[in-house]
Amino acid sequence: MIVVERISEVRERVRAAREQGERIGFVPTMGALHEGHVSLLRAAGADGGYVVVSVFVNPAQFDEKTDLETYPRPLEDDLAVCEREGVDLIFAPTPEEMYPDGSKTTVRVPGMSETMCGAFRPGHFGGVCTVVAKLLAIVQPDVAYFGEKDAQQLAVVRRMAADLNLPVEIRGCPLIRDPDGLATSSRNVYLSEGERRRALALSRALLEAKDAIAGGERDAGRLADAVCRRLAEAEGVETEYVAVVDPDTLDDLATIGENVLVAAAIRVGRTRLIDNVLLRDLDVRGAGG
Ligand code: AMP
Repeated sequence: MIVVERISEVRERVRAAREQGERIGFVPTMGALHEGHVSLLRAAGADGGYVVVSVFVNPAQFDEKTDLETYPRPLEDDLAVCEREGVDLIFAPTPEEMYPDGSKTTVRVPGMSETMCGAFRPGHFGGVCTVVAKLLAIVQPDVAYFGEKDAQQLAVVRRMAADLNLPVEIRGCPLIRDPDGLATSSRNVYLSEGERRRALALSRALLEAKDAIAGGERDAGRLADAVCRRLAEAEGVETEYVAVVDPDTLDDLATIGENVLVAAAIRVGRTRLIDNVLLRDLDVRGAGG
C-alpha cells in the first residue's frame, strides 16, 4: 500500500495502474474509519481493480468551526485498516494541497442541497460537491463508492456527476449499523454511554417506519408524524428533521411509491446524528392503508 500527499503522485500511480489494464475504484473518506467505511473498501475490493482511498477532512464542508477542529484524525489507525483491507493507494492531502491560494471555483447543486441536512448545515453540500468533483478529477476512477448512510449526499453527488457528465459510476452501498442498531459514524465516539443509549431512539423509530411501510402504510405524512412522535418521546433527543422523500430527487412524497427514503437527523447532547431507511422497488400495486 502506498500513501501519498500530492495530487501529482496520485495521477502518476493511477496512470501506471491503468497502463496495467486495471480499473480504478475510489472511496472518498474523511478518515476515522469504521465498519461503514470498511464496507465500502470491501465493495471496491470485490470489484477487483486498483483501489484508491482518500482521507481528507474537508474544511469546506464544515459549517461549525469546533466540529472541524475536533473531528477525529487517527491517521495511523486508518492506514492500518486500509492495509488490512488490501487498499492499493491512500491519498491523504493537506488542505493547502486541495485548496491552494487563489482557488475560487465551487460546485453547487441548488435545490437538493438546501433541504433536509442542508437546511441545518448551510453550505455543507456545496463543500461536499466541490471536494468530490476535485477528487474525481484527481483520481479519475471508473467507480466511486458512497454510503447510503449519507443518503442526501449520495443523491446530490449522483446529480452532480450526471449534470457535469463526469465519466464515473457513482455506486451506493448499504448503510452499516452496530449490533445495537446505531448507524456507524465517526462522530459516535463523541457519545457518552448514556447518550449512546438515547441515540438508539433514532434507528428504532426509523426501523419502525420501515416495518410500517412493509405493513402497507403509504401515507408519507402519517409516517413522518409517527417517526417525529417516537423521537419526541425519547429523553434527551432533539429532532432536527424527519423527511419522507424520493431517494433520487429528494422531493417530498405525499404517497409512498416504489422508492422511498425516510431520513432523520437528531442531536443528542452536542452530537448530531443522521440515519435513514431506504426502500426501493416496493410493490405498490393495490397497496392501501
Ligand atoms: P465520511 O468519512 O463520514 O465522509 O464517510 C465516507 C463515506 O463512508 C461516505 O460515502 C459515507 O456515506 C460512508 N459511510 C459512513 N458511515 C457509513 C455507514 N454507517 N454505512 C455505510 N456507509 C457509511
